[in-house]
Amino acid sequence: MTSPYTEGLAAGLLRYQVCETCAAWQPLQRHACGHCGSRQLAWRDSSGLATIHAVTEVFRAPTEAFQALVPYTLVLATLDEGPRVMGHADPGIAIGDRVRASVFHVDGQPLPRFRRA
Ligand SMILES: [Zn+2]
Repeated sequence: MTSPYTEGLAAGLLRYQVCETCAAWQPLQRHACGHCGSRQLAWRDSSGLATIHAVTEVFRAPTEAFQALVPYTLVLATLDEGPRVMGHADPGIAIGDRVRASVFHVDGQPLPRFRRA
């Protein structure tokens, strides 16, 4: 399961996809722009700076590797560049907090984690 997104994470970078035709950012990895249908999509490196949009506490993990982490905090964060991404976060983080993305590993898989900026 390798992609520019996971390769970026492995290098400590949060990446997102933008359309080279209309400049719309893409909410998930896509093969065509969700806005104009163009297939000219490019990956950009985010600065990692974001604002917390939503927060969820997870008490039941989806897999055994995550079970070791419960309870943990998942957030939706709006990157300064516009895209909204899901990631882990420090406990006690709140909507509206300014955060910076970092990367941590669960079961060898790099995942974004947001800390207060
Ligand atoms: Zn487009």
